[in-house]
Amino acid sequence: MANQLFDFGLIGLGVMGRNLLLNMADHGFAVIGYNRSPQKVTELESEIVPGTTVKGTSDLAEMVNALKSPRRIMMLVQAGNPVDQVLEELIPLLSKGDIIIDGGNSHYTDTLRRVKYMQDKGFHFMGVGVSGGEEGARRGPSIMPGGDPEAYPHVQPMLEAVSAKVNGEPCVAHLGKGAAGHYVKMVHNGIEYGIMQLISEVYDVLHRGYGLDNDELHEVFKQWNEGELQSFLVEITRDIFLKKDDKTGKRLVDVILDKAGSKGTGKWTSQDAMDLGIAIPTIDIAVSMRNLSALKSERVAASKIYTSPVKITGISKEEIIAEARAALFFGTLISYAQGLALLYVASKEYDMEIPLPQVVKIWRGGCIIRSTLLEVYYKAYTANPSLSNILLDTNIAELIKSREANTRKFVSKASLSGIPVAGLSVSLGYYDAYRSETMPTNLIQAQRDFFGAHTFQRVDEEGIFHAQWQ
Ligand code: NAP
Repeated sequence: MANQLFDFGLIGLGVMGRNLLLNMADHGFAVIGYNRSPQKVTELESEIVPGTTVKGTSDLAEMVNALKSPRRIMMLVQAGNPVDQVLEELIPLLSKGDIIIDGGNSHYTDTLRRVKYMQDKGFHFMGVGVSGGEEGARRGPSIMPGGDPEAYPHVQPMLEAVSAKVNGEPCVAHLGKGAAGHYVKMVHNGIEYGIMQLISEVYDVLHRGYGLDNDELHEVFKQWNEGELQSFLVEITRDIFLKKDDKTGKRLVDVILDKAGSKGTGKWTSQDAMDLGIAIPTIDIAVSMRNLSALKSERVAASKIYTSPVKITGISKEEIIAEARAALFFGTLISYAQGLALLYVASKEYDMEIPLPQVVKIWRGGCIIRSTLLEVYYKAYTANPSLSNILLDTNIAELIKSREANTRKFVSKASLSGIPVAGLSVSLGYYDAYRSETMPTNLIQAQRDFFGAHTFQRVDEEGIFHAQWQ
C-alpha cells in the first residue's frame, strides 16, 4: 500500500466516520481515514474486511497526500468548533479544486459561512446530512447532499454506492443550493423528534393509562409495523419492549430514567421555523417535552401536590389499541406535513431550490424517519411538485380524515385521565386550525388594534384600518 492513492478520505473515525468508511470500502473504493487520537485508528484497522482497501492514520498530512486529485474528503466530527478546527488544519494541506464535505449535523448557517470561506480559497465545500445511525452508516444510510453542484458529480458515484437502496434506487440526491443538505437533515431530525414524542405518548396511554405490559406492547407494535404504520421507529419500539436488563432481569425500558437527551437539531428546527413564521407545533412540543422531562425532581415534587393520572376504563383493549393506532398514524402524518411545509418555505426564503419530491424519495430508506408513508408523499409530490402542504393532497386527505374520529376519542380519553398527550393534541389542533376557513384571529387583531393601534384589515373592503376603541 506504500504508494497507493486512495479514492476517498475521512476525518473523524467515530461511530459514523468509521462505519461509513468501511461501507465505502465494501463497495470497492480505496479509502483512508484519519483520527487525531490513534485509538480509533486501531479500531478501524481491527474491523477491515479482507479484500477491501482501507488504511488508517493519525497523521492528517499523510491522509491528504495519499488522495487522488481532486481530493474528496469527508469530515464526520462533532458539529460546531471541531469542524472549523479541522478545516484550519486541512487548508494548508489542500490544493485548489479539492472537495471537502461536512457529513456531520452542522447548523446550516455555519455551513453557509464555510461554503463561502472555502470557496474564496478555491476549494469546494458541501454540507451533507447523513442519517441512519451506526447501522445505517455501515450498511446504507440516507444521504442528503447540498451545495456546490460542480463538486457533486465527483462524489455522486460514491454516495450512491454506499447509500441505502429502495426498489434499486439510491437514497441520495442533490438537494439544492447552499446549505440545503444540512437544512434538510435538520428538518428530518425535527420530524424524528415529533414522531418519537407521539410514539412515547401512545405508549404512555396504553401502558400507564390502560395497563398493557411490555409483552402486549411488543405485540401491538409488531402488528402496527406490519401495516400502514410500518417504519423504522415503530420497528425498533417493538423490539425495545422485549429487551431484558442484564443487571436486574427486568425489561430494560422499565429501568431507563425518564429524562430525554438531545443534541439540538430539534431545537434548531423549531427556532428556524419561528424565524420563518411557519407553524410546526408537533415538533415544537416534542422539544418542549424533552425539556420538561429533564425536570425530574420538580416533576416528582409536583406529582405529590397534584392528583395522579387515573386508569382508562370503560373501553375494550381492542378498541383502545385501534384508537391508538389511528392517533399515531394521524399525528405522524401531521409531523411530516409540518416539516415538509417548513422545507417548502425555507427553500424559497433561503434560495435553496430544495426538490421536495427528491427529499421524500431519499427518506424512503436508510434514515431514522423511513416509513411506508414516504411512498405516499412521493406520489403526492410527483403529482404536484409545488405542493405547499401535503394535507392539500386528496389521497392524503382521505388517509387523515379516516383516522380523525379515533384520534379525537384517543386524545379525549388521555386528557380525561390526565395522561399527557401534548404531541397528539397539538397535531389535532394544527389540523383543526389548518382546515378552518375562519380562525378567531379577528379578535386578536381587534385586541392588538385596541391597545397598540396595530391596525387591521376588513373582510368587506381593501385597505388598512384603525378604530377608536374607547
Ligand atoms: P463520535 O463517535 O463522537 O466521533 C466524533 C469524532 O470526531 C471522533 O473521532 C473525534 O476524534 C473527532 N473529533 C472531534 N473533535 C475533533 C477535532 N477538533 N479535531 C479532529 N477530530 C475531532 O461522533 P459521531 O456519532 O460519529 O458523529 C459525527 C457527526 O455525525 C456529528 O456531527 C453527529 O451529530 C453526526 N451524526 C451522528 C449520528 C449518530 O447516530 N451517531 C447520526 C447522524 C449524524 P477523537 O477520537 O480524537 O476525539
